[in-house]
Amino acid sequence: MEVDKVGKYIYPDIELDRYEGQVIEELKTNSRQPISDPDKWLEEEVEQNILLTTVDALINWSRRSSLWPAICFPACCAFELIAANGPRFDLARFGMEILRASPRQADLLITAGTLTWKMAPSVKRIYNQMAEPKWVIAMGACGISGGIFASSSYAVVPGYNRIVPVDVYIPGCPPRPESLIYGIQMLQKKIARKRNFVPGREDDQ
Ligand code: SF4
Repeated sequence: MEVDKVGKYIYPDIELDRYEGQVIEELKTNSRQPISDPDKWLEEEVEQNILLTTVDALINWSRRSSLWPAICFPACCAFELIAANGPRFDLARFGMEILRASPRQADLLITAGTLTWKMAPSVKRIYNQMAEPKWVIAMGACGISGGIFASSSYAVVPGYNRIVPVDVYIPGCPPRPESLIYGIQMLQKKIARKRNFVPGREDDQ
């Protein structure tokens, strides 16, 4: 190989041709497969915009996320329910901050207090007027069994389940707001399992 006056290499033509041929052959060898498009926008678009679910799951999600309790608080457990609705425990986080004065706009009955037989027809009427589907939470010892009054008073109903079907029982005298929130979450799980279109198959499946 020659060197010119300023010290640069002078390549003969034949050497240049051979080198160029080698480069081409290497590129041909490494280019047997098509190069895939690195842009993943289509896959990402599909992943972000297609949601697969069942009709049951969608209906149950909407129902359990927007429970509206009826106002029906016969005794002292009511104060814990009121506390649960306040800013500290913030029941609104679970989509159920709206207490309805009209049972026709409510789908949840939280039995926060002692029930006497004198009041029982009114509570049953409230339940009957509520929108379907509807649920009942028995809150506190009185709501579950009549509590401390059950054995000593002829006037107390020994549990709301004597007059309405109860879905969730929350023990305590009174139960704290955390217990009530936990019971509500249990009810939401129960609603999530409901089969809406299979006759005779509901809940606990
Ligand atoms: S369970 Fe206790 S706090 Fe609740 S209504 Fe009965 S006596 Fe009152």
